[in-house]
Amino acid sequence: MKQKKVVILGGGGFIGGHLAKRLKDEGCHVRVADIKNHEFFDHQEICHEFIKADLRDPKFVELVIPDKVDEVYQLAADMGGAGYIFTGENDANVMHNSALINLNVVHQCSIKKVGRVFYSSSACMYPEYNQNDPDNPNCEESSAYPANPDSEYGWEKLFSERLFLAFNRNYNLDVRVARFHNIFGPQGTWTGGKEKAPAAMLRKAAETGSNASFEVWGDGLQTRSFLYIDECIESVLRQMNSDFIGPVNIGSEEMVTINKLAEMAISISNKNISFHNIDGKEFQEKYGYECPVGVRGRNSDNKLFKSKIGWEPQKPLFDGLVETYPWILEQVEKQK
Ligand code: NAD
Repeated sequence: MKQKKVVILGGGGFIGGHLAKRLKDEGCHVRVADIKNHEFFDHQEICHEFIKADLRDPKFVELVIPDKVDEVYQLAADMGGAGYIFTGENDANVMHNSALINLNVVHQCSIKKVGRVFYSSSACMYPEYNQNDPDNPNCEESSAYPANPDSEYGWEKLFSERLFLAFNRNYNLDVRVARFHNIFGPQGTWTGGKEKAPAAMLRKAAETGSNASFEVWGDGLQTRSFLYIDECIESVLRQMNSDFIGPVNIGSEEMVTINKLAEMAISISNKNISFHNIDGKEFQEKYGYECPVGVRGRNSDNKLFKSKIGWEPQKPLFDGLVETYPWILEQVEKQK
C-alpha cells in the first residue's frame, strides 16, 4: 500500500507533536512545520522532516505544503491559557497572527489540491451568554449563533472555521473542522502563563512544600471539562477518517469545578498540602490585572460526535491526571 503523506502545521506544539508521533508510529510519512522546535519531543521521534517556518509568511506556507499531499493538519495558532488569552494585552497579536496563518494555509491547501485538511477550532468560540451558569453550560454545536465569544481568540477561531468551510463550499476543499475543549497531558506547556488549568494545578501541587498552600485563580467554582491528549488524537483521526465535515466538539463531558481539579491534583501528589482561592481586589493588587478566569461554565457536548462518528472519549479525568503528574514533576525537578 502507498505510504500516506501528511503535513502537521504547529507540530512543534503540544497537540501537533502528539499527533505527529501517532501518525509516524502508524507508518505515515510525516512533515512537521512550526516556528519553533518541539520543546519536549525529539524531532526524530515524531516526524521525518521538521521545517522551521513562520506560517504568517505566505512564502513559507507555499514551501511546506507539497502538491497533492494526502492530509494537512492545521494546528498552528497563537494561543495560550487564561493568563495569555483573557488579559486583553495579547488580543491584537492573537487575532492577527492566527488569522494570517489560517488565510495562508487554506489558500495553499486549495491551490495544491490537498486530499483532506483538518482545522482545529476551539470551544472558546461558543457564546458567553450560554456559559454563565456553571452547572448548566450549553456548548452544543448548534448553539454557536448569535455569536458572542468571550475572547478575541474565540472570535478568530469562529472566523477561521467559517473560512475553511467556505473553501469547502466554493473550492471543494475537503475539510474537517473540530472544536477542541481543553486538552491536557504530558509534553504540553506546563509553566510561563500559557499553560492550561490541569498543567497549572499539577505543577502547583508538585512545587508546593509540605503543609503549604497554593493559589487557585477565581472562586474556583467555575466549571470545565478536560480531555486527555491520547483521546483527543483518537477523536481527530476518527473524524478525519469519517465523512463528517463538522464543526464538531472534541472534548470530555466530565465537568468539574476548578476547585475539584485542584483537589484531584493534591490527591495525586500524595502531599499534605492545600489550596486557597485568589480573586477580585486581592488578585488585582497582586498581579495588576483582573483575574482572568473566562466563562463561568463550559463542558463538551458529545452528542453530535457520537451520532456522526459512533465513538466517544472514555478516559476519566483523574486517570489522565495520574498519567500526566510524573511528567510535570520531572519538569519541576529539572527546573530546580
Ligand atoms: P500549542 O501552542 O502547543 O501549539 C501551537 C503551535 O503553533 C506552537 O508550537 C507554535 O509555535 C505554533 N505557531 C504559532 N505561531 C506560529 C507561526 N507563526 N508559524 C508557525 N507555527 C506557529 O497549542 P496546542 O495546545 O497544541 O493547540 C493546537 C491547536 O489546537 C491550536 O490551534 C489551538 O488553538 C487549538 N486548541 C487547543 C486547545 C487545548 O486545550 N490545547 C483547546 C482548543 C483549541
